[in-house]
Amino acid sequence: MDAEIIAVGSELLLGQIVNTNARYLSEKLALLGVNVFYHTVVGDNESRLLQSIEVAETRSDLIIITGGLGPTKDDLTKEAIATHLQLDLVADRQALETIEAYFESTGREMTANNKKQALVLEGSTVFANLNGMAPGMAVTKNARTYILLPGPPSEMEPMFSQFGTQYLQKVQEAHNPIVSRVLRFFGIGEAELETKIIDLLEQQENPTIAPLAADGEVTLRITAKASHIEEANRLIDATEQQLRQRVGEFFYGYDNTSLLEECYAKLQEKNLTIAAAESLTGGLFQQELTSLQGVSAIFKGGLVTYSNEAKETVLGVKASTISTYGVVSQQCAIEMASCVREKFDTDIGVSFTGVAGPSDLEGKPVGTVFLGFAFRDGSTMVKALHLGTKRTSNRIRSVKHACHFLLKHLA
Ligand code: ATP
Ligand code: MG
Repeated sequence: MDAEIIAVGSELLLGQIVNTNARYLSEKLALLGVNVFYHTVVGDNESRLLQSIEVAETRSDLIIITGGLGPTKDDLTKEAIATHLQLDLVADRQALETIEAYFESTGREMTANNKKQALVLEGSTVFANLNGMAPGMAVTKNARTYILLPGPPSEMEPMFSQFGTQYLQKVQEAHNPIVSRVLRFFGIGEAELETKIIDLLEQQENPTIAPLAADGEVTLRITAKASHIEEANRLIDATEQQLRQRVGEFFYGYDNTSLLEECYAKLQEKNLTIAAAESLTGGLFQQELTSLQGVSAIFKGGLVTYSNEAKETVLGVKASTISTYGVVSQQCAIEMASCVREKFDTDIGVSFTGVAGPSDLEGKPVGTVFLGFAFRDGSTMVKALHLGTKRTSNRIRSVKHACHFLLKHLA
């Protein structure tokens, strides 16, 4: 399936907002094995929108249009498509109820144009809007699929991930599906990984294997073509098994997951709580962890102790530890982890201390990092890292390494 994304909105053309909808959809479509060959942006103008659609129809089987589903006069996507495909617009009962309920609950007066938002293309599959009012929809006509989604990313993204992907999987099943699966690796460089699987890379045909490296991680995308999805998945399973036989020790998850999410899931699964003491990461671990929903079940809290004094007075690291070994040391990392674990009475305490850069510290080179881990049974562990010279990257990688360490340790 070849796809094109048309983002509608004059504010995009004026440079007032960035077309993040196209970026999001392209990423999701790639995972579904859909080729995205064009991104188009067009203003809130009916004739230019129609022109764009006509052009898209000459080169794409799937046309996704975002924006212009709202209540105002400049929202004209549905109307334009209805005229173009010679389909009527009909009221969707569920969408109308959502809109009415919203106005009732807020006590605001519902104007006539708000009802317009509940209109959908006749015969379309309606995608409920769980974060707003205008529903999305998908319709297949003349062997081409049109998907209409609201403009605001906060509405579009959950709608597409919940209903859009499902719809497209069904459409793909009808055609010859292409299915992708991403395997994620940590702790191995791209070159080393490639060396270990070079023969598989050289003989690949169906499925194909595509390596990609970013932010200290390497991914392998396996893509298979087959006459139906189950068959494609079987092909992918076999290739995954071959790859994991070679580099399985570095594998940590599939598709869009992250080390942090996997670590969180593992802590949840094992019913373990955690607290953190951070120095060079300045709270980054806690910031990232708390961006995940429901994390209060496992995360109790933590401390950012950046100065030596704070490590002593707030956290309780012994002055003699710092004077004998320095703050960038195994000993300090372990004490930080133990102290924070005790303070928050958690199952695990994790600590981050090191030299983020750009200058050396205590005679230790930039990129020297110690991660400390303390457990309720009194045991402790430490991981020494020798990262690079880039400050931001060192901080991000420290967090990733800590998550990876815990993931492996708790496996
Ligand atoms: P509304 O009901 O809010 O009017 P709509 O479906 O009519 O929604 P638009 O009016 O086109 O959508 O856009 C609403 C807002 O959504 C824009 O002001 C912008 O903030 C955001 N938005 C629209 N299109 C995009 C896009 N392609 N990428 C990122 N944000 C977008
Ligand atoms: Mg609008």
